[in-house]
Amino acid sequence: MTVPFQVDALPLRDKSLLRSNAYIGGQWVGANHGVFAVSDPSDQSVISTVTDMQAHEVAEVIAIAERAQTSWAALPAKQRALALRRWFDLIIVSEQDLARIITAEQGKPLSEALAEVRYGAGFVEWFAEEAKRIYGETIPAPSSDRRIIVLKQPIGVAAAITPWNFPLAMITRKAGAALAAGCAIVVKPAELTPLTALALAEISQRAGIPAGIFNVITCSDAAGVGRELCSNSSVRALSFTGSTEVGRLLLRQSADTVKKCSMELGGNAPILVFDDAGLQTSVRGVFAAKFRNGGQSCIAANRILVQSSIYDAFAEQLSEACRELVVGPGAREGVTIGPLIDSSAIAKVEEHVADAVRQGAQIRIGGSRHELGGTFFEPTVLTGVTSAMKIFQGETFGPVAALIRFDTEEEAITLANDSQFGLAAYLFTRDVGRCVRVAEALQVGIVGINEGLISTEVAPFGGVKQSGLGREGSRHGIEEYLQIKYICLGNV
Ligand code: NAP
Repeated sequence: MTVPFQVDALPLRDKSLLRSNAYIGGQWVGANHGVFAVSDPSDQSVISTVTDMQAHEVAEVIAIAERAQTSWAALPAKQRALALRRWFDLIIVSEQDLARIITAEQGKPLSEALAEVRYGAGFVEWFAEEAKRIYGETIPAPSSDRRIIVLKQPIGVAAAITPWNFPLAMITRKAGAALAAGCAIVVKPAELTPLTALALAEISQRAGIPAGIFNVITCSDAAGVGRELCSNSSVRALSFTGSTEVGRLLLRQSADTVKKCSMELGGNAPILVFDDAGLQTSVRGVFAAKFRNGGQSCIAANRILVQSSIYDAFAEQLSEACRELVVGPGAREGVTIGPLIDSSAIAKVEEHVADAVRQGAQIRIGGSRHELGGTFFEPTVLTGVTSAMKIFQGETFGPVAALIRFDTEEEAITLANDSQFGLAAYLFTRDVGRCVRVAEALQVGIVGINEGLISTEVAPFGGVKQSGLGREGSRHGIEEYLQIKYICLGNV
């Protein structure tokens, strides 16, 4: 597909951040390649065209990364840390431009895009510091003539496959950890949002990250490229963020080469609002957990369980809060909800709302496509939602708050755990005993108590059940890129 490259379409201070070629071995690769178009979800206009790499080229990319990795791993940790720190500093210098690129290709409001840049940069900063703290162990030996030493070493080449909903942060939380550990990484960003990944590559080059250590394969053939990344035996770790369905496929494809796999998959987060929570605090918290990124977040509140005695008042106040939301293109001043990513996303949201209404749910506010057309959807509150409805069973990934009624703590926990997913959950209550009981009983990897915004680089992020394997961020995140070696020193 040949579409003119519109470098002027975005008001960037630093236009050289808008790259159109893949970034492999420190080179911009694109000659003799086809391209695919990247569009603005708010009006479907083409922002840019990007190099379309093919599956048969992946093995060479991995070989380049493998050659570079050995000398990167051999550097003193402090030098890797300094390079990562420079990358972090330069990301922050370019934060406004990066936010504009995210909004252009992903659609979220500029203020949220800026928050994503800072959040995402935080992983690079955090892991720059962690690079210096990859501690091994000495273990008392069973006999006096021996010493037992445990080393943690980089696993080798890592591959990352990332989604469109957080096009910057989902890359940095993998790449920051991998590079700090001494690995090289090959990133395949989502076809819908490659421009942010390429801007990160440009900045990595400026920061002096050596050629071949951070590579970005842009492509439209996710299945073909993904298969190559999984089946190549030089890739020793695979980190995926995306849907559970694709995660299962990648695990199967990685089995033959026995890779270390970390999987950040789908969520279907419950929020439990108890009648002692305080309406204002709980409405504010639920609102933040539901409507950020238009509901297109893996930890977005999908099932809002509200205790009977406050159910109607809660529904009323949440609907009131929704009236304040301003729907529109993310780059427009004052907009708080952007478009959904594409036509299949809006079709899924419509289907969930229609199914709920068919089965007896009531629409308190919204419920339809927005008058702006395209993929804009009205902020919606549904009451009378039950566990029989599609909106309860799977991720809606849109601005629809589904309210379910419960009476007792036990009932709320049973409803919350009635899911194959187990990423995040939230609860709102002032009862300390209940905070502990419920948080312990919820089958998830992350719990927010009286708080709707919980993501931070300093805490371990990840799910249980079919929401994934492994953790990102915190001191645990780097372990995904390390392997343990036990050394027995005898005849001392
Ligand atoms: P997706 O369809 O699974 O896509 C994610 C990535 O996988 C994209 O790069 C995609 O490439 C690629 N992909 C698709 N099919 C593939 C295949 N057969 N082989 C290899 N790669 C393949 O998910 P999405 O719709 O973009 O993202 C939304 C999902 O991600 C939701 O379920 C959300 O909950 C989850 N998510 C989870 C977390 C977490 O931390 N747990 C964070 C964010 C999002 P193309 O885009 O080029 O097709």
